[in-house]
Amino acid sequence: MTAQTKLFLCLKDNYGVLVHDPATGATAAIDAPEAAPVEAALAATGWKLTDILVTHHHGDHTAGIAELKQHHHCRVVAPRREAAKIPDVDVEVGEGDRVKVGSLSAEVIETPGHTLGQINYFFPADKLLFAGDTLFSIGCGRVIEGKPDQMWQSLLKLRALPDDTSVYCGHEYTDANIRFALTIEPGNAALQARAAEVKKQIAAGTPTVPSKLGDEKRANVFLRADDPSVAAAVGLAGKPAAQVFAEVRERKNRF
Ligand SMILES: [Zn+2]
Repeated sequence: MTAQTKLFLCLKDNYGVLVHDPATGATAAIDAPEAAPVEAALAATGWKLTDILVTHHHGDHTAGIAELKQHHHCRVVAPRREAAKIPDVDVEVGEGDRVKVGSLSAEVIETPGHTLGQINYFFPADKLLFAGDTLFSIGCGRVIEGKPDQMWQSLLKLRALPDDTSVYCGHEYTDANIRFALTIEPGNAALQARAAEVKKQIAAGTPTVPSKLGDEKRANVFLRADDPSVAAAVGLAGKPAAQVFAEVRERKNRF
């Protein structure tokens, strides 16, 4: 049986997600921005929370952990490199580790940059990627603790996953990301197509997440820093991709 998911908004623009294994009844929350929307999603689905899989230590991903753990006695899985900054951690994981949610299995992929210990959970059987604040739809996280070249290497690890991977990110930032991306790649047909799709989604009040990784590879300028056309667009033709990425990220910070 395949995994089931439920996506919901938390706080202002954070996403929470539940991942459910119908075979065993196990259910994981990906991050816990706040407890109440997670509880509401559990009530709506009838699923019982067994695990919280934490991507990184920021408060808008962890503030609900203590309350949920107290209520559900669930297991808390968190990145080893920043576990000390996350409450109630039971299991610390890092690159290449496997995390089970019932009979479902996720690979842990470390992507330092946004924070130094940030991890992603990739469920290969269902091709689900939970990317926290590393990769957004048509964007990427701010490089807060790491260096731009480190973030670029991290994004390359995610880019190597299959095109039909569903990407669940930590925030609904897609509209602003598209407006920025169009300043760099106004002629990118895949980006224009995604812009039209997202306009419809926003008008209908539906989430723009998840997206397909193949679409991100074609339309997300932050995954395209090694494309000569992107380098040329930011005046860095022939320069290393990491330098192009750093310039694009810096322009987004100022956007
Ligand atoms: Zn964050």
